[in-house]
Amino acid sequence: MDVADQTLVKKLNQKLLLNEILKNSPISRAKLSEITGLNKSTVSSQVNSLIETNLVFEIGQGQSSGGRRPVMLVFNKYAGYSAGIDIGVDYINGILTDLEGNIVLDQYYDLENSSPERIKDILFTIIKYFISHMPDSPYGLIGIGICVPGLVDKNQKIIFTPNANWNDIDLKSLVQQEFNVPVFIENEANAGAYGEKVFGAAKNYDNIIYVSISTGIGVGIIINNDLYRGVSGFSGEMGHMTIDFNGPKCSCGNRGCWELYASEKALLKSFQNKDHKVSYQEIIDLAHQNDVETLNSLQNFGFYLGIGLSSILNTFNPQAAILRNNIIESQPMVLNSIRSSVSSRIYSQLDNSYELLPSSLGKNAPALGTSSIVIEHFLDIVPA
Ligand SMILES: [Zn+2]
Repeated sequence: MDVADQTLVKKLNQKLLLNEILKNSPISRAKLSEITGLNKSTVSSQVNSLIETNLVFEIGQGQSSGGRRPVMLVFNKYAGYSAGIDIGVDYINGILTDLEGNIVLDQYYDLENSSPERIKDILFTIIKYFISHMPDSPYGLIGIGICVPGLVDKNQKIIFTPNANWNDIDLKSLVQQEFNVPVFIENEANAGAYGEKVFGAAKNYDNIIYVSISTGIGVGIIINNDLYRGVSGFSGEMGHMTIDFNGPKCSCGNRGCWELYASEKALLKSFQNKDHKVSYQEIIDLAHQNDVETLNSLQNFGFYLGIGLSSILNTFNPQAAILRNNIIESQPMVLNSIRSSVSSRIYSQLDNSYELLPSSLGKNAPALGTSSIVIEHFLDIVPA
């Protein structure tokens, strides 16, 4: 074996061991050897290299009442910190996580003026806040993940967002130059799907559909544990599937798009006869008071969501559909109304094959998803 091959094997072995320590921490060297099939001396030398990287440390040395305890290896989740930032249509939600995705710091801003300049200022303020407030660690800030509701191509360039015109701005390079760490740009629904897959409601599923219902509707697709991004990166734009070919004109150029009926914007529109702009909290409060008009609106919201969801289930036959929306997460009646809308439209065999779940990470799902993309990249490049 030449030197290049040896280095590669060493790196692969380290990754394999790190992965098992991550999953099973605390774990002994003997157990690692048993699980991975690597011999004891390989495990021992590669674990020593991992300890030198500060990603792994030892516990359990010395005497205990039952005799000498075995030395156990633990993943060092505080070796560095990852930033995940979700730039929404009218908010920016930033979190800083440790290497296991636990949120250490968070920053939330409402956006009134959403010019790219203003968004950039807030984004930089958040990142600088994280850098100045994060605990000391061997690696510091390991990277920044950013997601936007819009089209992000396979080179992580933002092609289109409904809230701000990023066409002429290379956000990835801009942030990378300022902070000098790896930066990843992702579509918001993809990021949310990934967050739920790694940390949330979809943890135990291999094939899921994540539906983000906000101003528009975006869909994240996970097939065999991987994000499906499409050839150019534009998959999941299912908010623009036609549910009424004679319907009203959509900003995308089509008519009767699903999101014109079933988005948060469409739901809020159904409260237009109120003398003020209705908030989420108000809708939730009115529903709790059994306000008939509100319950009707929520019933319709579920009905329209069910129409699009039926097509999605027919297309993907996933194990679970995860829905991200504040109202759905707090009002089980919407889930029930989606279920009955779907049931009346799809094969009964398909109807019994999927779980319909609210997001378990809530508003942090996309930020956690981008943070986990950063962490995975980091853990991929550090060994050997
Ligand atoms: Zn459309």
